[in-house]
Amino acid sequence: MNSKNSPAHPATQLVLGGRDRDTLGFVNPPLVRGSTVLHDSVADMKARVAARLAGADEPIAYGIYGGPTHQAFYDALNALEGGHRSWALPSGLTACAIALQAFVGSGDHVLVPDSVYGPVRRFCDQTLRRFGVTTTYYDPCSGAEIERLFTPATRMLWLESPGSHTFEMQDVPLLAAIARARGAFSAIDNTWATPLYFQPLKVGVDVSLHAATKYIGGHSDLLMGTVTSNERAWPQLRAAIHEYGLTTSADDCALALRGLRSMGARLVQHEANARALIAWFKQQPEVERVLFPADADDPGHALWKRDMTGACGLFGVLLKPGLGEARLHALVDAVTLFGRGYSWGGYESLLIPSFPERTVTANVYSGRLFRVHAGLEDPRDLVADLERGFAALRRPG
Ligand SMILES: *Cc1c(COP(=O)(O)O)cnc(C)c1O
Repeated sequence: MNSKNSPAHPATQLVLGGRDRDTLGFVNPPLVRGSTVLHDSVADMKARVAARLAGADEPIAYGIYGGPTHQAFYDALNALEGGHRSWALPSGLTACAIALQAFVGSGDHVLVPDSVYGPVRRFCDQTLRRFGVTTTYYDPCSGAEIERLFTPATRMLWLESPGSHTFEMQDVPLLAAIARARGAFSAIDNTWATPLYFQPLKVGVDVSLHAATKYIGGHSDLLMGTVTSNERAWPQLRAAIHEYGLTTSADDCALALRGLRSMGARLVQHEANARALIAWFKQQPEVERVLFPADADDPGHALWKRDMTGACGLFGVLLKPGLGEARLHALVDAVTLFGRGYSWGGYESLLIPSFPERTVTANVYSGRLFRVHAGLEDPRDLVADLERGFAALRRPG
């Protein structure tokens, strides 16, 4: 069955993707480590170089351009996202940095949501700035009024929906259409929705990227980023990737591909566990609100329902004003099943205080927001652990 042109549902594509090539009868593609590729003749060497310079990704002439294991993973991602080409990078942050850098030069301007993943803000404020690129941060909830922030120098509209730590949903089709009308590219950090639950390229975004470190890897044992591009954006993105020599190991691609196979089933359980925990949080008098666009009470719910077909296990919890940082820290320190650690998307539950940065919208979260990753444990055990945490929160002193 051809996974690229297949009418199969996305969950089936997770199983089929990347399996069109010869695998010598095995279910999985071969894990091929390699640098040197041998050529038949000088003519063959010349032909492969010419083909690459003309934009072809295959046949591969050298290991830095990937190998059969990489290609199988890229095929699977392309099929899921409806993309032209995909690439794997050493981390999610590298994917963000290269997707920004590829489209800008000195004198250019980028638009970035105020809810952006923190290290991307640093990349814009420090690295892009040193190269003469200016950044304007915008309210992630902006609609058509974002138009007035575009200048003739705007080359890139950055999107992240929902936003890091604060989970604002963005009107992605609208914003992507505005960027295109203004002659800019758009790129989205699609990590939360995963390629299974949202396909931004299908609604007009040029580049969709993921921290594959999260649900694609799924087991807290992999660092990887991915970019998937439409035809319009690929030449520039590809040039940046090749000029920096960005590549990943075949072993990591095999892990990512293995992660994709079970991602659909894992996500169903992550979302169910998140909903079970959210139901408990909503009953606690100290909780002001839960930040999870898949929840009917969330301000981003209508957009989530319109654009996404599911949710993952990551959400925020905002405590009532007056419950200071010390009480929040007592909660975070008291849990024993939830881990205190960065990242998310693995099989294990995590709970950390959040410190969202804001430069153009009000920061109403200071000192009282925490982020929960619902892992794959039995939710009854997780609730028991939260009860322990909230007992510490309530303890005076
Ligand atoms: C974790 C994360 C990244 C960065 O991924 P790494 O692989 O840890 O570099 C980028 N964007 C979002 C939204 C993330 O949560």
